[in-house]
Amino acid sequence: MSELHKFLFEGLPVRGMLVRLTDAWRDILQRRSANSATGPYPAPVRTLLGEMAAAAVLMESNIKFNGALVLQVFGDGPVKLAVVEVQPDLSLRATATVRGPVAEDATLGQMLNVEGGGRCAITLDPKDKSAGQQAYQGVVPLEDARYRSFAGMSDVLQHYMLQSEQLDTVLVLAANDELAAGLLIQRMPAAGEGNLAQRRGFAEHEDQIGAHEDYNRIAHLAASLTREELLSLDADTILHRLFWEENLLRFEPLQGARGPRFACSCSRARVSAMLRSLGRDECESILQERSDIEVGCEFCGQQYRFDAVDVAQIFAAPPDTPDAPFAPPGPQGLQ
Ligand SMILES: [Zn+2]
Repeated sequence: MSELHKFLFEGLPVRGMLVRLTDAWRDILQRRSANSATGPYPAPVRTLLGEMAAAAVLMESNIKFNGALVLQVFGDGPVKLAVVEVQPDLSLRATATVRGPVAEDATLGQMLNVEGGGRCAITLDPKDKSAGQQAYQGVVPLEDARYRSFAGMSDVLQHYMLQSEQLDTVLVLAANDELAAGLLIQRMPAAGEGNLAQRRGFAEHEDQIGAHEDYNRIAHLAASLTREELLSLDADTILHRLFWEENLLRFEPLQGARGPRFACSCSRARVSAMLRSLGRDECESILQERSDIEVGCEFCGQQYRFDAVDVAQIFAAPPDTPDAPFAPPGPQGLQ
């Protein structure tokens, strides 16, 4: 069963999370393998998407926000897009668009950042837009300031956290065919931080230095976790091995119906809305060439078919706007 473990370090401004996606991840891979149009993902894409799935669950759980988190990478190599969407209830879905051969040992740069055009986008899409909440999107490149591609998603996202949220973060990610897993350790921002020199007394400054030392020690321990350990050990063993000298406050793990699990939010109504936005002329011209319009969901593989009567109904009925889909920028057909 997939599981998410949250924990705190007693008395220290550091929090952590460990995620293990088992059934949720296998479900995503099996649906892809069963899709005769695409076939299974090449091995490096599986690793990329699995690491993104683990990271997206950690990031969604790490923010106080009622809405979906969408983690995307856009590439200029054979991998055009990889996307993971996590809902506030931790249900998730993921897909990648691959155009062209991917070598067995392809790096992140060779898959996504051949010309330096690769980007990673983190989008927070609020559930209740009427409350005035706006979607937020942060975008970072897939390379460092010296134009060298990052080695993996953990480097990309640590860079993002530091740059956009000014939060020191350690992220260890790993994925294989059975498991996508991740460990996140983060220093919690102290009140008034950033104004240290001007406003704070010497004693408080001392406290700040102490807090940094605690974080540095824990971050160092966390960073010593290898991918092999993350993939082969259970959560209790990992946390004990890394932090047995620390005072860990652990919360009840989230699993089963409360934990991370695969779910797709596609529906016939959403595909209808997409066809409506394509326009009547476009739909009718497709119908002149074939007996029906077939749209496959790239996340779950579900096929939706619309014949001439269905299409006529779509354009006869008034649009049902309340359930307008959130469509991440990407290839057409993602619903
Ligand atoms: Zn679907």
